[in-house]
Formats: sequence, structure tokens, C-alpha cells
Amino acid sequence: MYNLLNNLLISVEKQDPAKISKASFPLRYGKYSEIKTSEYEFRFNLNGEIKFIRGLNVNWPHPAEQLKRTDGNDWVYYSVGDKSSEHGIISWLGEYYLPCLPYPSNSIWEVNYLSNPGIMHAFAEWSQLYANLYGVRKDGLHSKAKDLISLILNNDDRVLYERSQKLNAIIGGRVSVLPPDTRHIDYEIIPLMIADGCLYHCKFCCVKTAQQFKARPRADILEQIRQLKTFYGRNLENYNALFLGNHDALEAGDELICLAASEAYKTFGIADKRKFTPLLFLFGSVTSLLKSEHRLFEQLNHLPFYTYINIGFESINKPTLEFIGKPVDESKVLEAFQKMIDVNAAYTNIEITGNFLMGETLLPKHYQSLAELLRNAPVSSNGKGAIYLSPIKDSPKKRELLPQFYEIQNQSQIPVYIYLIQRL
Ligand code: SF4
Repeated sequence: MYNLLNNLLISVEKQDPAKISKASFPLRYGKYSEIKTSEYEFRFNLNGEIKFIRGLNVNWPHPAEQLKRTDGNDWVYYSVGDKSSEHGIISWLGEYYLPCLPYPSNSIWEVNYLSNPGIMHAFAEWSQLYANLYGVRKDGLHSKAKDLISLILNNDDRVLYERSQKLNAIIGGRVSVLPPDTRHIDYEIIPLMIADGCLYHCKFCCVKTAQQFKARPRADILEQIRQLKTFYGRNLENYNALFLGNHDALEAGDELICLAASEAYKTFGIADKRKFTPLLFLFGSVTSLLKSEHRLFEQLNHLPFYTYINIGFESINKPTLEFIGKPVDESKVLEAFQKMIDVNAAYTNIEITGNFLMGETLLPKHYQSLAELLRNAPVSSNGKGAIYLSPIKDSPKKRELLPQFYEIQNQSQIPVYIYLIQRL
């Protein structure tokens, strides 16, 4: 640790546990650099890009809360909510923190951190720190501290924005939604697109594209992997998870999924650095899950990843499916739900989770049928599987949905959480 002028304490490289654990205070993981002033703590990734800011002063809302900059260059505020007990955020999100997003989403609880001067002051302090680093006299400084300062100065706000655009350009568009299961690793994934579009183009959906489903050519996937390796650079070692996009990667089939996962595993050096099983995430649909054969699951099960597949069920009530404009028969949804349970029981390294909708405008029958389904679902012997309830984005009064959520959660044999739609 080096002490600079203006009371800046610099730690060139620190190591927190690589595995992200569910803890109420504070959320810490990976290898990073840190600069502390008397009032703020700034954390940088291994490329010198600002990643976390946490207030240490009395105006900061809570010592466990912090701002996080995503790879998409969004500043997300991590709130601990207003109850710290098991009735707090953990009871409906499965995590101790609620990521408060700077863009419209489906959050059940809106925290407008942008209007909180105590939080917004952190951005002014970040600009001030940058200016101070610019003016720091480097003679006499240890070479490691000098290198870190240069690295940070190379990553001003314009560069950070351009890097997020570069990431989108490599994968061919922004990831508009991450699977809910990525909450287990604080949404820290490397994205790799193996397909575009989706099969249904449901009316209610706020993340869809206009494209018809189309798998990417092998050469495109391999080129993305090559470019992503360069893009992430040294910070690659802080990632332990891969997201195969986009909205229905399962439909791309075993060959492309396994090619993408295996090549990424090799090229990103995941095997060399991680002491625990890396995670693979993808979305699937009712159709692609029903179509997937034993061979596909066998292959996935033998990948060096633990794989989460998240399926959009939305409802098992026919009028609700019609109302939300999802062109799938309720019998198919039920069949896919049963297949989820069977796959979770049969394959050690695969976990399928499912999403259903919530919202004021949905029919009572939707909730009755969902509660019945979850009440009668078999209890998993291996603890696998989860159901996510996703508030419809334009539904007003989302927090008022919580009592209904708890009612379903209390009846369910499968763990139930709220799905927060988050982009990369
Ligand atoms: S819910 Fe899924 S399948 Fe339906 S439009 Fe959205 S992305 Fe496509």
C-alpha cells in the first residue's frame, strides 16, 4: 500500500475470494486495485477501469451499499433495502442486495439513487480523484504505483464508454437481458452470441428484437471468442462465467453450444486459473427445451461448466397466454415444466430454472394455476431448480405485488424469487 499526497492510499493489487459468496456485507470478490480517500473507496479492475465506488462518509446511505460500473458502462447502485432480516431483499431476490438500475426495468422496488445527493456526490469525487491522479508527482513513487496511476488515467469516461461500445460491436449488439441465475455471480459474465432473435416475439416482452431466430455461423462465434480475449485483457482472470446469447441459445443446438463453450473455456484460460467450477448460462424456450434430446443434455453435462438454462414459461393458463401474446399452448408449457424437473433430477451439472409473469393486469386464474402447479411440484432431492416471477415491465405499483409473490412462494415446493430484468 502506498500513501500519496492528498491522503490517497493506493493498493496496487488486492485479492478477495474469487468465488462470489452470498454475504450481507460487503459484496467483494476477485483481484483488483484500490484507492482510498478519507471519504470514498474506489476499486479498479485489472485493466485500471473504475468498477466500484463506496462512500465512507456519514452522507453515504449504508456502509454495505456501493456503486458498481458494469461492462455495459451502467452505474448500478447496490441497495440493502430497508429490512436486513430474512424478510428483506434476500427473501424475494435471493441476494442481499438490490441492484438499482439507471434505466427503466421491471424492478419491484424502485430506488432512484440519481436523486440522492449523498450518492451522486461520489461521481464528483471520482472526477476529483481522476484530476488529482493526473497531478500527482510521480518521482519517488514505486514503479507499481506509477503503472497503476497511468492505467487509471488511460481509462477516462470517454474511453470507458467507447469500450462498452466496442464490446457491443464484438458480439453484434447489446445484451438486453441477462438470465436471472446470473445473480449467483453478481451478473459478472462474458457474453458470447451464438444466435439472434427468438421463436415467439411475444406481445408483452420488452427485451425482444425484431429478428427471426437465426443461429450464428461457427466462424462468427470463433471470431467473437478471439476478439473477446483481447478485449477483456488481464481482467479476464476475474471472470468465471460465460453467457451464451441471445434469447434462445438452446435452440441453436448441441453442436454450436458445445463448440462455443469449449472454445471459450480453452481460449479464455478458464481451466488454468479457477479453483472452482465455472458457470455457463443460457436462455431456452418451451419449444427448444421440448426439442432438446438426451444427447444434448449428455454433452452439456460433460462440459467443464455447471450449466444454468433459464426457460420462459410465463403462464400455464390459456387465456393468460393469449392475453400476453405468447403463441404457445398451455399443454406444451406443462410438458416443458415437467421436463425441467426431469432434467434437474437426471443430470448433475445442469440446472434448469423457469420464469412466470406477475402483474396487476393478469387474470386471477393465472395465479391460481401457477400456485397449484408449484404446490404440487415434486420436491427436488438435490436442491436444484428455481422459479422466477417477473413483474410485467409496465405494471404500475410493482411493490404491491410482493404480498402476492410471498403467497405463491409459501406454497411452492421449488424456491421462488423475483426476476429483475437487467442488461449487460
Ligand atoms: S419472452 Fe422470450 S420468446 Fe417471447 S419475445 Fe421475449 S425474448 Fe422472445
